[in-house]
Amino acid sequence: MRTFSQPMFLLVVDVWLFFDRLGVATCFLCCARCSPVQGVCEQCLLALPYPQWSCEKCKDPLTVNDHILCGTCQKQSRMFDSCVAPLEYAFPVSTMLQRVKYNRQIVYARPLVKHLINNLQKDYCDKPWPEALIPVPLHWWKLRKRGFNQAGVIAEQLSKAIDIPVYHHLVKRRNNDQSQQGLSANKRKQNMQNAFALRKPVPYKHVAVVDDVMTTGATTEELCKVLKKHGVETVDVWCVARTPSV
Ligand SMILES: [Zn+2]
Ligand SMILES: [Zn+2]
Repeated sequence: MRTFSQPMFLLVVDVWLFFDRLGVATCFLCCARCSPVQGVCEQCLLALPYPQWSCEKCKDPLTVNDHILCGTCQKQSRMFDSCVAPLEYAFPVSTMLQRVKYNRQIVYARPLVKHLINNLQKDYCDKPWPEALIPVPLHWWKLRKRGFNQAGVIAEQLSKAIDIPVYHHLVKRRNNDQSQQGLSANKRKQNMQNAFALRKPVPYKHVAVVDDVMTTGATTEELCKVLKKHGVETVDVWCVARTPSV
């Protein structure tokens, strides 16, 4: 099985950029020739961090498979109805998503979103698809500083592939919180209280909230809570990756 390392990744990025300028499609992770649509070769795709077991409700990666639900989902009900998050937030997925978010290298999102689409197609083969996609919004100040919303970029790529419209401005984020990184689950939850408000009524009964990564789920849950309070009956959550809670 192929393994990845940070120094190798940095070297590969330079080589990949060189080939990209020449118009040659190579894998983002090993520089082998590959389909320009896929972005990552078959071998690297198989070596990405897939959780062996995960919580049936929130997709929290589990270390053992003796429970169907994680500890949190056993103790409390979730505001969302289902969750698709096929990858674990670990290297190289974490680095690829950080490059999308902080370096605006959108190209790294492509293979991850394609993988998410494959999983969605399996998941929704026997149940109805949502009517609209709602990316988790950024506070306007953060959006202005960053210039784009990574969740919006992912939602646009999904929308093109599965033909479901994206609504970027239905919900606004009221809190300009600092990064939630390093905060406990309870602190994250407190920070997110009343973080979202609707700009206008949502004319749908079934939507999917889209984000790049779900950590404790505090942000996603707060957004789902607002949507349900205003008449949405079913809220699914779609993320590229899930951070393990332990
Ligand atoms: Zn590769
Ligand atoms: Zn769970």
